[in-house]
Amino acid sequence: MQLTDNITTIKGIGEKTAASFARLGIHTVNDLIHTYPRNYLTYGEPIDIRDAAQGERCAVCAIISSYVDVRQVRSLKLTTMTVKDSTGSLKLTWFNSPFLKNVFHKGETYVFVGTVKIKNNMRVMEMPEYYKPGVYESMRQEMQPVYPLTKGLSNKTFQKAIMSTRQAIYKIDDYIPEDVLRENELMEISEAYENIHFPMNEGVLRNAIKRLAFDEFYKFLYDMNVLKKENIKQENVHKVVQGKAVADFVDELPYKLTKGQAEAIEDILADMGSDNVMNRLIQGDVGSGKTIVAATALYACVKEGFQGVLMVPTEVLAKQHFDELSQLFKKFGIKVANLVGSLSLKEKRKVYEDVKNGEVDILIGTHAVIEEKVEFRDLGLVVTDEQHRFGVNQRKKLANKGTFPHVLLMSATPIPRTLAIIMYADLDISVISELPKGRKPIKNCVVGTNYRNTAYNFIAREVSEGNQVYVICPMVDESDTLDVTNVTEYTDTLRAALPLGIRVEMLHGQMSPTDKNSIMEEFLLGNIHVLVSTTVIEVGINNPNATVMMVENAERFGLAQLHQLRGRVGRGSKQSYCIFINGKESKESTERLQVLENSNDGFFIAGEDLKLRGPGDFFGIRQSGDVIFNLADIYNHADMLKLAQDIMKKYGEKLSPSDANLMQLGYIL
Ligand code: ADP
Ligand code: MG
Repeated sequence: MQLTDNITTIKGIGEKTAASFARLGIHTVNDLIHTYPRNYLTYGEPIDIRDAAQGERCAVCAIISSYVDVRQVRSLKLTTMTVKDSTGSLKLTWFNSPFLKNVFHKGETYVFVGTVKIKNNMRVMEMPEYYKPGVYESMRQEMQPVYPLTKGLSNKTFQKAIMSTRQAIYKIDDYIPEDVLRENELMEISEAYENIHFPMNEGVLRNAIKRLAFDEFYKFLYDMNVLKKENIKQENVHKVVQGKAVADFVDELPYKLTKGQAEAIEDILADMGSDNVMNRLIQGDVGSGKTIVAATALYACVKEGFQGVLMVPTEVLAKQHFDELSQLFKKFGIKVANLVGSLSLKEKRKVYEDVKNGEVDILIGTHAVIEEKVEFRDLGLVVTDEQHRFGVNQRKKLANKGTFPHVLLMSATPIPRTLAIIMYADLDISVISELPKGRKPIKNCVVGTNYRNTAYNFIAREVSEGNQVYVICPMVDESDTLDVTNVTEYTDTLRAALPLGIRVEMLHGQMSPTDKNSIMEEFLLGNIHVLVSTTVIEVGINNPNATVMMVENAERFGLAQLHQLRGRVGRGSKQSYCIFINGKESKESTERLQVLENSNDGFFIAGEDLKLRGPGDFFGIRQSGDVIFNLADIYNHADMLKLAQDIMKKYGEKLSPSDANLMQLGYIL
C-alpha cells in the first residue's frame, strides 16, 4: 500500500464508503492518515448510580430491573428499561432500536456508558453504549479514537480503515535524523502517526501530538524560507510617491484615523516609495479599522497609475468590501470590480477583459483572483485580508501576479510579537493596537443555560429598537451533517421563542455561496433581524447595526476565538452586548469565560486561556480559529514552533519535509 493510493485499495472500502470519505476531503491513504481523531473516549471505572452527575459521561455497572418496553412515540420507536445497583436506579432510553428487546433480559448485568440527565427527578441515560462486564474491563485499557464523521460513515468504519493503513504508516521515513530526534526528545514520525490514531496512553498521545505539531510548523517554516528567498530585496518597480494625495484622501474621511492606523499608512507609504518591494503584515485586533488602511494603500497605488487587488477568504466578505470600496472611491473616478467563484462565465470573462486592458483599477474577490485567467495590465499592489485563512502558496500565487507587486497582508489573529516574528519571518510588521475612539466598550455576561429565556427577551427588545443580533448555535457534534440539523433546529426554536415579526434566518457551511450571499446581504440591509449560524460566521463581516452576539456552548471555544466572534458587534456607536452561554457550568469553564468579561485585549485573553486550561485537553482548544494548521496551535505548541525554527536554522534546507512523503500537512497549500 502506498500513501498515494486511492482509499478504495483498502479492504472493505467500496465506492459508497469512498464517496462518504470524499465528502470529508479524504481521497487517498495519505489523506486518511492525516485525518486525526478529534477526541478520544476513555472508559473509566464504573461508578455508583448515586454519584452519576448531570451532564457527565460515565459508566455504571447495573442489573436490569424491569422488562424492556418498546413504544411508538410520534415518529419514533422508543425503547426503555430500568436498571439499578445498590445505590440507586437509572432509566435507560433508546430511539429506533426495538431489537434491544431481544438483547436485554431482566436480571442480567451490563455496564452502561453515557451521559446522565435528570428528568422528572429521575436519572436518565439516553442512547447509552452497553457492554458485558468482562468485555468492558478489557476496553478500559484502551483509548478509542473518535473521528469526524459524515452521512454513511461510522466511527467503526473509520477506525477499521485507519487500522488497515498501518503498513503504509510503518513505511514512512523520518526526515529528521535520529540523533536530532533523540537530542530534542521528539518521537519518531511513523510512531507519531501510529499513536495519534491508536494511543497506548495519554503520555504517548501527548508526545505524538507534539511531534506532529512540530512537523506542521517545520513544513510551514520551510515553505516560508523558500518564499523569503524569492522575496528578498526585490527591486521596486512600482514606486508609489503619493504622500500629498494620501493626506488629502485621509482628510476627507468622515473620521480621524487612530494613531495605529496613521502609523501603518506611514509604514506602507515608506515601503512603496523605497527601493525595495513592500512585504508587510498589518496586525490589528478585530474592529481596529484595517480596511481603511488597505483602502488607502490601494488608493495611493491607483493614483500612481497601477492596479491593485484585494483577496479575501469568503464571497460574502468580498461583496462587502466591494460595496464599501466602490462607494468610497466613486468620487475619485476609481473603478472597482468584484470577482468571485459564483459569477457566471460571461460575467467572469467581462471582468478578466476589463482587468487586462486596465478598465478596472481595483479588483476585489476570493481566491478566484489568483486563477491563471486573471491577468493585469500593471499590478502594483496585492492585499490579502484575513491572511491567516490563506495558505503560504495561495499568497505566493497572488504575489506572483504581474511583476513584483507590493504585498500587504492583514490579520486579526492575536499572535504575540515574538511568535509573529517566527511565523512571518519574511514580513515587516505594523501593529494597530487601539480601537477607534467613541466605541462604547461591549458589555459582556457569562450565564448558564437557565438564562436563555431572559436572553431571548433581551434579543426581542433590542430588535424592537431597530438593532440586529447574531446567535452562534449550540454544537452537538462537529460532523457536518449534524451541524446542519443543529442550526436548522435551533433556528426553529428561536423563531418560536421570539415574537412574530422578528425575522430569524440561518447561515451554515453547507449552503451554496449564492445562498450565503443573499442571506448576508439581507442581514446587512436590516431585513433579517436575527442571524443564527455555526462558527463559520463569516470572518471580517462588518454590520455596525448589530448590537448583540449570543454564543451557545461558549465553553467549547477558545477564548481568542470567542473574542473574534465578539468582534462582530460593537462596531458602531451603539452600546453592544455579548452573551456567552456556559453550557457546562463547571468551576473551570466559568473561570475561563470570565476572562472575557474582564478584558477586551486579544493578546491578553489568548495568554490567560493557555494558563487556565487543564491538562485534560489533548488538543487544547483551538485558539485562533484559523486553518493554517491541522493540529498545531501557536499557543499550545509554542515550544514546538521554537524548536522547528532552531532546527531549520541549524540544518537549513538539508532537512526537507517533502522527502518524507509528507505531501499534505494541515495548512492549506
Ligand atoms: P477590522 O480591523 O476588523 O477589519 P474594519 O476595517 O471593518 O475593522 O472597521 C470597523 C469599523 O470601524 C468600520 O465600520 C469602519 O468604518 C470604522 N472605522 C475604521 N476606522 C475608524 C476610525 N479611525 N474612527 C472611527 N471609525 C472607524
Ligand atoms: Mg476586516
